[in-house]
Amino acid sequence: MTGKFLLTIDEGTSSTRTIIYDHEIRVVASAQREFKQHYPVPGWVEHDPEEIWAAIQVVTSEAMQSAGAAAADISGIGITNQRETTLVWDRRSGECIYNAIVWQDRRTAAACDTFRADGKEALVEGRTGLRLDPYFSATKLAWILDNVAGARERAERGELAFGTVDSFVLWRLTGGKVHATDATNASRTMLFNIHTQQWDEELLELFAIPASLLPAVHDCAEQYGVGDCAVLRGVPVLGIAGDQQAALIGQAGFDRGTVKSTYGTGCFVLANTSDEALQSANKLLTTVALRLDGKVSYGLEGSVFVAGSAIQWLRDELGLVASSEATEAVAMETGVVDDVHVVPAFAGLGAPYWDPYARGAVLGLTRGSGREQIVTATLQAIAYQTCDLLDAMVDDGIAPSIIRVDGGMVANNWFLQFLADVLGIAVERPTDVESTALGATYLAGLSAGLFDSTDAIAARWQSDRLFEPEMSNDRRQALLQGWRTAVGRVGSHA
Ligand code: ADP
Repeated sequence: MTGKFLLTIDEGTSSTRTIIYDHEIRVVASAQREFKQHYPVPGWVEHDPEEIWAAIQVVTSEAMQSAGAAAADISGIGITNQRETTLVWDRRSGECIYNAIVWQDRRTAAACDTFRADGKEALVEGRTGLRLDPYFSATKLAWILDNVAGARERAERGELAFGTVDSFVLWRLTGGKVHATDATNASRTMLFNIHTQQWDEELLELFAIPASLLPAVHDCAEQYGVGDCAVLRGVPVLGIAGDQQAALIGQAGFDRGTVKSTYGTGCFVLANTSDEALQSANKLLTTVALRLDGKVSYGLEGSVFVAGSAIQWLRDELGLVASSEATEAVAMETGVVDDVHVVPAFAGLGAPYWDPYARGAVLGLTRGSGREQIVTATLQAIAYQTCDLLDAMVDDGIAPSIIRVDGGMVANNWFLQFLADVLGIAVERPTDVESTALGATYLAGLSAGLFDSTDAIAARWQSDRLFEPEMSNDRRQALLQGWRTAVGRVGSHA
């Protein structure tokens, strides 16, 4: 193997980062840049693909410069990315024919309702493990074909390519030579049959998607192609996974029943269910967690739309804390709040409620309730929502004895102790909480031969702190009961 570094591109929803690691997987340098969110119509969210690509090139150059690394010093590239976001480009010019339609975009809600009314939900869920929802790529792709002049005809002539962000980045990195994705990203398109690991012909027909648009689907760790662009010429792309799957890999979640929960803007819980594609009875998603050497590990996924963003709300809209970090001192001082419940359903409720029309509320206020109670109850709400997801997973047959946590919020020790208390299971924080970038780096390291197996990666996982449940079961049940009553009162049916 040539080179002494691995380089990971972490293309997120609001910013892109490049991190350079040495072969001991220590961070040597990193650089980050935010890019613009476009909201052309309420409910629509777009990114400019050229801005994303420009940002990737800039942060990659910056990180390489600060590491003192030339392309020849880099053994391989890992890519991890915001999932589901949909791009279509011209195969000859490489130019996108429309902006990237972001996963949060709801423009195809009515189209999904129509498919549901036509009784297509069971087909879609059975093949893809997903819910018939605008969140996923299929209806966004159909929207581009139907709304950009001439797009459908060009697609039928084989002139266009579709990809999620990983595919687009790979295409640009390889100078337009490689049109591929990995199985984790493919599993979020709502066009991929997770059981056969093929693009599903019936779904392509249902959503009217010409097969010529689709990328080849590869394992997560293999050589996808070789860099053919100014910054990374000659460097092989060796690993790809969508962000939540990459976080599970970064947390060494390779065994059945391992669970990671990421607390950033939102919260994403993903459990490894090994070779079993568990069909949830609780509206969780079934997805590809990892595919190595053709062998699929499936995952069960649930998300909470508002986690860290509720902390930002306390800081920015309510002005109750000067910083996100300050919530910890407030909660420590106040202690667990029993009667006040904050339900941060600002954007509806996700699994297991799936109520897009629910809205936030603060309940149980008395004359003595104030800043301290609202701040603490907001932290508690994020833990209760995790508990709802874990309960759903347990009911679906996954019973973890511990969950591994990462993301910006896990710096908050009070939050993690309360989380362990309400879950009734231990919560463990690793020394490196940048699990997403780490996961993509591990995949590239696997292909590069730095690790001979996932066991070698698992052996590297290091605990920073273990939080054990300490609360009595009675107290825990009473708190959860209060939460459930509060959630019941914000639903659209209430
Ligand atoms: P993302 O990757 O989604 O941008 P991060 O993983 O960087 O998010 O986490 C940032 C989020 O974590 C912010 O919403 C911030 O308010 C929250 N956060 C950061 N530190 C703390 C803390 N000590 N206590 C509570 N929330 C925090």
